[in-house]
Amino acid sequence: GAKARGRGAWCFFHETMTQAARERLELESRLRLALMQGHLQMHYQPQVDIATGRILGAEALVRWNDPQEGLISPARFIPVAETSGVIGPLGEWVLREVCRQGQAWRDAGLPELMLAVNVSPRQFHLTDLAGCASAALADSGFPARLLELEITETALAERTEEARQMLVRLRELGVRIAVDDFGTGYSSLAQLKRFPIDVLKIDQGFIRDIPQSEDDMAISAAIIAMGHSMGLSVLAEGVETEGQLAFLRERGCDTYQGYLCSRPLPAEGFAALLRAQPPQPPQPALHTSAPA
Ligand code: C2E
Ligand code: MG
Ligand code: MG
Ligand code: MG
Repeated sequence: GAKARGRGAWCFFHETMTQAARERLELESRLRLALMQGHLQMHYQPQVDIATGRILGAEALVRWNDPQEGLISPARFIPVAETSGVIGPLGEWVLREVCRQGQAWRDAGLPELMLAVNVSPRQFHLTDLAGCASAALADSGFPARLLELEITETALAERTEEARQMLVRLRELGVRIAVDDFGTGYSSLAQLKRFPIDVLKIDQGFIRDIPQSEDDMAISAAIIAMGHSMGLSVLAEGVETEGQLAFLRERGCDTYQGYLCSRPLPAEGFAALLRAQPPQPPQPALHTSAPA
């Protein structure tokens, strides 16, 4: 009867939910273990100066190297880390690891690099991000001016006054602030103007269909112009073709990331790429009147 069917439907639903919850819980405890056992690692994707083609820095992207499953994407485990609270210790590990690596590269005599670290919404709003960053910098010796924190536009659109105060604290530490996935969130320009930010990262969704999509070209050009008029540097994410790069260069976009230059690489691979760069050519004498 209807009652039995109803109950059956409920049982079925209940069991699926339990299964999803069980899988989540399992992933969460495996993630905690991976963090403790050193199975997380950072990869580095070059950030390239569009005008000169030189690598100015890198975005650090976390990977989970599971002995059984192989590399697990952050798209799969960062959401679990966010909802479970593992994001606190995970985010702290990422900051410490990137600062450690950055300082190791400086000690090894590599050219000076900006390193960008992703901060997820809950990590931004619910953990002591400024305290964590300041401890990671102090303990590693990596200078704050070389560290950039990427906060998504969506995270900045929530609890905006608290968000602004957190950005001010981070700025006081001397780190740079980038707005990640720009153009996909709902932050107002009025808010953005009040935030101490340095870089806009155009979401790769707007770059993908350049030069076929007139709309995406118009949006990207508008973001570049707006960013520049606000005194910000603009980076394009997900650049894969020469055509996309040519468009961005023409529009005066400052930097880019994407497979066109390189996929994210393990630390050793990234260092090798840097060492292969021709030495910095002598700079044209733009400031001839400046003291030597
Ligand atoms: P995101 O910060 O927007 O990072 C850009 C993503 O685009 C990366 O994916 C990168 O590998 C990918 N990508 C770069 N160039 C290209 C390209 O030319 N074409 C295409 N199709 N994709 C490209 P990934 O590494 O899988 O990271 C996904 C997201 O996970 C990141 O998006 C970020 O939101 C999050 N994430 C990664 N690492 C961390 C971390 O250490 N902490 C936190 N909180 N989140 C992280
Ligand atoms: Mg990012
Ligand atoms: Mg992004
Ligand atoms: Mg993204």
